[in-house]
Amino acid sequence: MSRIERISIFQKTLPLRKSYRLSGGRLLFEQLDSTFVKIETNDGIIGWAEGCPWGHTYLPAHGAGIRAAAELLAPALIGMDPRCVEHINERMDVTLPGHLYAKSPFDIACWDIFGKAAGLSIADLLGGCYDQPTPIASSISTGSPEQMLALIREYRDHGYYVHSVKIGADTELDMQRIQYLETHRQEGELIWYDVNRSWQPAEAVKVMNSVRDLPLIFEQPCETLEQCAWVRQRTTHVLSIDERLETMQDMQRIVHERIAEIVNLKISRVGGLTRARKLRDMGLSAGIKFVVMDTGGSVIADSATQHFAQSIPASARMATWLCQDMLSIDTAAGLGSRNNNGSTTIPTGAIGLGVTPDENILGKPVAVYA
Ligand code: MG
Repeated sequence: MSRIERISIFQKTLPLRKSYRLSGGRLLFEQLDSTFVKIETNDGIIGWAEGCPWGHTYLPAHGAGIRAAAELLAPALIGMDPRCVEHINERMDVTLPGHLYAKSPFDIACWDIFGKAAGLSIADLLGGCYDQPTPIASSISTGSPEQMLALIREYRDHGYYVHSVKIGADTELDMQRIQYLETHRQEGELIWYDVNRSWQPAEAVKVMNSVRDLPLIFEQPCETLEQCAWVRQRTTHVLSIDERLETMQDMQRIVHERIAEIVNLKISRVGGLTRARKLRDMGLSAGIKFVVMDTGGSVIADSATQHFAQSIPASARMATWLCQDMLSIDTAAGLGSRNNNGSTTIPTGAIGLGVTPDENILGKPVAVYA
C-alpha cells in the first residue's frame, strides 16, 4: 500500500524574456509566480508538479493562493494512497471547495506517482499515448500590426506555424490587425485570434462580420458564455471557448447550446488531470476539438500538459503552448517536453511525468507537511 508521507512546497519566480500584453493591451505581465509540489510516499516514490497562474489579473488565480491552499490541502492528503486520484480529489474538495487551480499541482503530482508505481507514462494512464506530436502555438502579445507580425516572424524562426494572436479592446485597430496579419499569413500557417473576453457582444459581431469572407477562428470574444452564445448565432466564424471553460457544467452548456467548435482547455484552470479527462471525454463525444495548455509555468507544467494532449486523438487535437519558450530561466536543464521545430510531445521514455525540476534552482522548500 502506497501512502503519502511528506509534501514539500517550493516557490520560484519565473521572469518573462519580454514583457507581454493581452486582452487588448489592458493586462501587462513581466514575471510569473510559480509553485512546485513534491510528494513523497512511504515506499520511496516521488511525484512532482507545478502550478503557475498567468499573473494575478488573467484569471481568478494567483501564485500565493496555491501556497495558502496548500496549508489546508497538504495535511489532508498525508496518509492517502496517491494512486487513487479520484479519492485524492474528493478529499481536496471536502477540505476546500472550489479553488480548482490550487488543487491542480497536487492532483498532477499524484498522477506522476501513479505512473511511476505502474511503470507507465501519464499519457498511457489517461487512456493511451497517441504518440503524434502536437503543434505548438505561439502567443503573440497585443501591439501594432507591424509589431505583431515581427513577433510572428521571430516564432517562425523557431519552427512555429501556429499562432495565437492577442487582440481586443480597440475594434478599428483589431480589424486592421486581422487584415494585415491575414495578408502576411504563410501557406500552411494557422492563426487564431484570441480576444481574451475584451469585446462587448456587439463589437464582436461587428469585427467578425467585417472579415466574414476569411476562414478565421476567434477565441473567447466576450466575457461570459451567454455573450459568446449570442455572438455564435450572429457570425459564421469558428469559435473557441477558453477562460470560461472551468467545470463540467460549462462543457455541458458549450456542447448543448453549440456555443463553440473548439475549447482551449487549461489543465490548472479545470483543477488538474483527473477533472480534465472528464471534460475531454464529454467534448470528444460531441465532436469538439481541443487546444490543450496550462495557464503558465516552466517545463514541468508544460510536460504534464503534453501527457494530457497525447491522450487526445490527433484529429481532435489542434495545438498546445509551451510557456517555457517565453521564460528566461529553465527549471529542468533542457529535459522534459521541448519545442522540436514547432511541435512537441511527452518526454522521451517517460514513466510518470518523465521530468523533475532541479532542486538547486528551486531552492529550499517554503513549507513541508509530514
Ligand atoms: Mg486564450
